[in-house]
Amino acid sequence: MKTAIYPGSFDPVTNGHLDIIKRAAESFDKLIVAVLYNNKKKPLFNVEERVSLLKEVTKDLPNVSIDSFSGLLVDYTKENDIKIIVKGLRAISDFEAEFQMALVNKKLCPDTETFFMTTKAEYAYLSSSVVKEVHSFGGNIREFVPQCVAEALKHKHTEVS
Ligand code: ADP
Repeated sequence: MKTAIYPGSFDPVTNGHLDIIKRAAESFDKLIVAVLYNNKKKPLFNVEERVSLLKEVTKDLPNVSIDSFSGLLVDYTKENDIKIIVKGLRAISDFEAEFQMALVNKKLCPDTETFFMTTKAEYAYLSSSVVKEVHSFGGNIREFVPQCVAEALKHKHTEVS
């Protein structure tokens, strides 16, 4: 059984992430989407909120599960016996950092492979940061994120202001 992990911040999950999730779920037997606790970034949504939004948007994908982790990704993959890491690539600008990370992960855990999936062209511009920025200025983000994320952003905006 081929289990893959798709790690990221998902602050919040966008249609670009969801497209990678759906395509990866078709390519592997099981996909774990793992939300990283990153204390270097100040997130808009806490990890529980990000996990809960991911659960909502993947509820119709039976081979996808959601988890969270802190620390090194390779420690999580070793503990859970996962050999495949999935990453999405939007542009050349993603490539350098992802390439470096894939090599570091390979060094730390040689039996793990990183699989890169190219974004769908229509999501190439999309990132969680763009969504948060457009939303913070009152822009329409409905085409960027699933409905429940748009609702959550609306509530967050009211909470913050
Ligand atoms: P971001 O905040 O930039 O959206 P994440 O850490 O949440 O970043 O992203 C997790 C993974 O998803 C990374 O591999 C990233 O390259 C990928 N990703 C993010 N947005 C997209 C997109 N629009 N299309 C394809 N892959 C994406």
